Amino acid sequence: MDNLDFLHEVEKATGEKVSTCYQCCKCTTGCPVVADMDIYPHRIIRYIILGNRDRVLGSKTIWTCLQCVTCSVRCPNDIDVARVFDALRKTSVQEGRAAENDTWRFDEIFLESVQRHGRLHEIETILHYKLDKKDLFSDSKMGMGMLMKGRLGLLPHNIKDRKGMKEIFKKIEGKKVRG
Ligand code: SF4
Ligand code: SF4
Repeated sequence: MDNLDFLHEVEKATGEKVSTCYQCCKCTTGCPVVADMDIYPHRIIRYIILGNRDRVLGSKTIWTCLQCVTCSVRCPNDIDVARVFDALRKTSVQEGRAAENDTWRFDEIFLESVQRHGRLHEIETILHYKLDKKDLFSDSKMGMGMLMKGRLGLLPHNIKDRKGMKEIFKKIEGKKVRG
């Protein structure tokens, strides 16, 4: 696959003219979670143009993106950057690359908790994620602070219709299987 193949693949999947990006950085400067990204959004766009598939699909950035679309609104070339990132996530999942990423694992554990209780049980989610990473103590000070302020509930707050929630997840899984 030569460099242009990846660019064409992304443009075809999204309908976005990624190649018109002139690296003005407006997407990056407006992004609210840029501090947690390993590659700035405008850089991701650049790597797509250069055909650096590995770097893009293996990045933490595509999983950190909140899909708030600020970047898309700010882009002077009307590139829907958020849409591009969403497509990159799908490709990453299809190619089994997402499993390499911590953020992806957090997403999975988050959804498992919502599926079980109908809403997020924070402590369970954090502990599960930390155990998974074999890193129980790195954020313990912050965790204790939040616990003391009552920001983390020890017990889950289950919704009434948990069966209904499980049905929703089943339907989504069915759609995933059918593609
Ligand atoms: S705002 Fe648009 S043109 Fe500017 S760097 Fe980002 S994607 Fe490229
Ligand atoms: S959609 Fe994603 S990349 Fe764009 S500004 Fe929001 S969080 Fe940042």
